[in-house]
Amino acid sequence: MDRIQKIDDTLHAFLSLNEKAVDQAREIDKKIKSGEKIGQCFGMPISIKDNICIKDTKTTCASKMLENFVAPYDATVITKLKQQDAIFVGKVNLDEFAMGLSTEFSAYGPSKNPWNTDYVPGGSSGGSAVSVSAFECVASLGSDTGGSVRNPASFCSTVGYKPTYGLISRYGLISYANSIEQIGPLTRTVEDAAFMLNLISGHDSNDNTTVDNKNEDYLKDIDSGIEGKKIGIIKEMIGEGIDPIVLSATRDAISKLEGLGAICEEISLDMVKYSVAAYYTITATEAGSNLARYDNLRYGYDFSVEGYEFNSYIEKARKKLGPEVTRRMILGGFVPSAGHAGKYFLKALKIKSKLTRQINEAFEKFDLLISPTVPILPFRIGEKINDPVALFLVDINTVTANLTGKPAISIPYSISNGLPIGMQLIANSMNDKLLLQAAYALE
Ligand code: GLN
Repeated sequence: MDRIQKIDDTLHAFLSLNEKAVDQAREIDKKIKSGEKIGQCFGMPISIKDNICIKDTKTTCASKMLENFVAPYDATVITKLKQQDAIFVGKVNLDEFAMGLSTEFSAYGPSKNPWNTDYVPGGSSGGSAVSVSAFECVASLGSDTGGSVRNPASFCSTVGYKPTYGLISRYGLISYANSIEQIGPLTRTVEDAAFMLNLISGHDSNDNTTVDNKNEDYLKDIDSGIEGKKIGIIKEMIGEGIDPIVLSATRDAISKLEGLGAICEEISLDMVKYSVAAYYTITATEAGSNLARYDNLRYGYDFSVEGYEFNSYIEKARKKLGPEVTRRMILGGFVPSAGHAGKYFLKALKIKSKLTRQINEAFEKFDLLISPTVPILPFRIGEKINDPVALFLVDINTVTANLTGKPAISIPYSISNGLPIGMQLIANSMNDKLLLQAAYALE
């Protein structure tokens, strides 16, 4: 807590702190002294992205709309971690409602990259990555709809893990695009990510999309290596628009994998070209529906309905939502609407199916796929803020895993001019264990 007090004025990873954290740790300490059994998370300060509910704690989604929202229940991941005596040190910053990839769209101001505070930390789980990278905590939970765990992990040099869709319960995660998003851990090592996954994964009766992973132990045999494994290098993710420094780090990572006994070969997934367009069409549609509830009647702030008719009230109430969320909601109203759905929304769904078919075919031949997590290095705060489309394109390497439900991990790979570069590995659905083994070998 002292460290957070000392450095967080500069980094702005935290939106709120748990004032009771130290007392809670002392309580658990008493349990140890009296010989009681304690959970596996004892002694681990953990931060939580502020779109995951902790009972009786403010959950703002970095939005003015939810400025005073206090969660009435615990997300399943929180319940599970509490059972292991985790101490939540605080809630961390994000792009408003997890829409963005730089944390600059937080209504409470951006977080800063601890490697160079003039640069963005990535996003949307920027606060999570900063808090882990800057030693303000040992692990964090973020959410990944199109890269929001992996992108900031890559920009801040931490591990970021997006599991197979359904492996971790979304109950208590405030939805952005629920058909493709997952909660995932950000940690300093692959082993820590596997440790977190052991604790938070599995079936949950509160989330019908969860799967039973039979209490898989992701830590066991994590050091098995990747000898003889076939790894596909996704051509479309190292092509146009990639920074030459990132490309050379990728080539280096491939040589390292070959040195470890893997067989690497290029593979083309040509649907990747359309993945960003499909992703933004689908996510805007789901966001338009998921965020419709923020009309200030059920959630919101003190603003009387007197003197307004319905539409003008809603219009005024929604002014609390920031520019990026507003853009997405306008898009989300338009693309699935009568007369346009065939041209946009249904096309996007077709791309999603074709991409899934292509990646499934790739996994008939390969055990894993590799790409850089992000095709560019972290950029300066403010550099891209006025160009939303340029920001969208940065997601090109991360959205495929979400659209197809596959597990993917970003691991710190190298540092160039003081800025981190992360590598991404992708595995087939439910091959999370193999993915962690490969990441451990490459780390
Ligand atoms: N940048 C993407 C978006 O803005 C990803 C966000 C996320 O994964 N939550 O939608």
